[in-house]
Amino acid sequence: MNRYRIASIVVAIAAAGAFLAGCNGSSGEPRTTWNAAPAASSSSAPAGGTGGGEPVSALAAARSDASGVAGVQATTESSGVALTFDDGPDPNWTPKMLALLKKHDVRATFCLVGVQVQQFPQLVRDIVADGHTLCNHTWKHDTKLGTRSEDAIRADIKRTQDAIQAAAPGSSVKFFRHPGGMWTPRAVKVASDLGLTSIGWDVDPMDWNIAKYPAGNPMRDHILEVVRAKTQAGSIVLSHDAGGDRSGTLAAYEILLPELKKNFQLTAL
Ligand SMILES: [Zn+2]
Repeated sequence: MNRYRIASIVVAIAAAGAFLAGCNGSSGEPRTTWNAAPAASSSSAPAGGTGGGEPVSALAAARSDASGVAGVQATTESSGVALTFDDGPDPNWTPKMLALLKKHDVRATFCLVGVQVQQFPQLVRDIVADGHTLCNHTWKHDTKLGTRSEDAIRADIKRTQDAIQAAAPGSSVKFFRHPGGMWTPRAVKVASDLGLTSIGWDVDPMDWNIAKYPAGNPMRDHILEVVRAKTQAGSIVLSHDAGGDRSGTLAAYEILLPELKKNFQLTAL
């Protein structure tokens, strides 16, 4: 029997709770140099989400929509599975992730933070050169961006688009991911006006949370458990190649990439 089809209730419920936190959206804020905005409290859910309550309904929400906000694409809308890596580029981790993906001939999607792009433009070019898809993850990972004015949201997203173009002229960015998954209808609308599709996820191993799952083997094993249990045709998997110690993430994908390739078509968005 295909173990990817065996859903672990325990893991699914845990992952549903994790989903609500999203990347960087809860306690245990990853160590960063660029995250100017305070993290949401652990008791608050992404705007439009299902709140911090019943995990089973949260799981249903996670599968149907990344955020509870209309217009956020939570699956690939095909049988393919998309791996997404957020918060980079990061000189400590992005090159290692690129090498790993190249070794296994897998294309993924990288959600880039503007200040990181500005600081490490060569890494953006490396991502593009390897055939991966780019996604706009805002200028400085402001988890409250969606609550700001349309003009402020537009300026932030455009500034990030411009930085990516400056780093990798001619590259194409068609996707937007709100920091922490904290979309608002306004943020989705502005992104759409700028030609960007908002992308969420339905599989979240919480790989940013090294306070809960320490970097290295504990994190690796947690990622393996969640991704193996939850990934199905059409899944978008959220992970990170920046923002803290990602040794557990790298170790997990070293094991997961061949497994996932056997079970699914891995596709960049
Ligand atoms: Zn993020």
